[in-house]
Amino acid sequence: AEAFNAAVAAAKPLNAFIVETPEHALAAADQADKDRAAGSVKPLSGVPLGIKDLFCTVGVQATAASHILEGFRPTYESTVTANLWRAGAGMLGKLNMDQFAMGSSNETSAFGNVISPWRRSDGGNAPLAPGGSSGGSSAAVAARIAPGATGTDTGGSIRQPAAFTGISGIKPTYGRCSRWGVVAFASSLDQAGPMARTVRDCAIMLEAMAGFDPKDATSLQLPVPAWEQGLSANLKGKRVGIPKEYRVDNMPPEIDALWRQGVEWLKDAGAEVVEVSLPHTKYALPAYYIIAPAEASSNLARYDGVRYGLRELPEGAGLQDMYAATRAAGFGPEVKRRLMIGTYVLSAGFYDAYYNQAQKVRALIARDFDDGWEHCDLLLTPTAPSAAFALGEKSADPIAMYLNDVFTVPSSLAGLPAMSVPAGLDANGLPLGLQIIGKAFDEQGVLNAGLAIE
Ligand code: GLN
Repeated sequence: AEAFNAAVAAAKPLNAFIVETPEHALAAADQADKDRAAGSVKPLSGVPLGIKDLFCTVGVQATAASHILEGFRPTYESTVTANLWRAGAGMLGKLNMDQFAMGSSNETSAFGNVISPWRRSDGGNAPLAPGGSSGGSSAAVAARIAPGATGTDTGGSIRQPAAFTGISGIKPTYGRCSRWGVVAFASSLDQAGPMARTVRDCAIMLEAMAGFDPKDATSLQLPVPAWEQGLSANLKGKRVGIPKEYRVDNMPPEIDALWRQGVEWLKDAGAEVVEVSLPHTKYALPAYYIIAPAEASSNLARYDGVRYGLRELPEGAGLQDMYAATRAAGFGPEVKRRLMIGTYVLSAGFYDAYYNQAQKVRALIARDFDDGWEHCDLLLTPTAPSAAFALGEKSADPIAMYLNDVFTVPSSLAGLPAMSVPAGLDANGLPLGLQIIGKAFDEQGVLNAGLAIE
């Protein structure tokens, strides 16, 4: 009990937790002891995990880091967390995040920034962003508070925070992990996945999290492969593509150097490296920032002051006034921005020009990948265009923030598995990540290439 409390207390300055549940982790540890005495050990017996506050867990407040859900205690358990508990894991607490998973720095949380445990070696002491939206998850794992955490990834929210904090994280193929009981942001993109210190830990966690779920209509009806058992850093016979369109303008030289280094590592592991072209890459970010807000505006319509959490009921107010007052008080500024963009691009006069167009672009991006797979089995790219930036550095400029997602968004639009693995440090001693993108359902290939880099 003391060890758990100490771990959670150590996390305080990082602001990684919204709710602490050491009793849940302790119960799992006790159960693990009993199981062990009875000769049965489960894949995650007694392992204390951090759970992103987007997952519903019975009886424990779930806020999605928004005031609008304050006090909401789900009566149901997300399939992913239920799967983790079945595998023997316990919960240290609910982790801070960007509000409704909208953001890349954890600064949109209604519960304050998460602070990265990393500092620049050049003495610049400004606190750094842990990445987002799974910033509580990345900070908690990087600070060794939890050996693993759940994340969710809509456009990069597992991979970019993993890269910023020197840990690993995989977004599986869309549909691998059930979305049931996970607060929805953009349903056609949202995927849960693990964040952990090593590729192997990610494989073990993902095996527990994934699986067909009849409660999610987009859940994949496929068995969960034995990913951990299949791990191999031997990439003989694999062709790895380097998509030339990812060599963006203004790419910092150290990111470019890291990418080249990654190519060498994969060659050393036996892979053949080829250049490929994904011509529509530059349209991915604008398409994403139309589709994701459009779906969010629909998903977040349910927060009406009646069914969940917060209710603002001004004196003498009618129903419309209550909706307006609740939503005005409950949603943060970034969420409101997305809801306005989303409602606009879906509105009668603009639907064809924006939303429909973005969907067509999405199809072209998916086709780019399909064409790419004619020439290679995996793709290697940087995870993010920079190392972690300082808190506050980009928060006033949404476009600058959105640009951080340039390398992670295309694979999200195509529903493909993609992973970030730590690949080195920049000149200031900050971690940098490399991203591996795989064909649909080929998490094994992605994990194996990750292992070769790690
Ligand atoms: N940063 C992206 C956004 O703000 C991605 C977020 C995510 O993957 N949840 O939409």
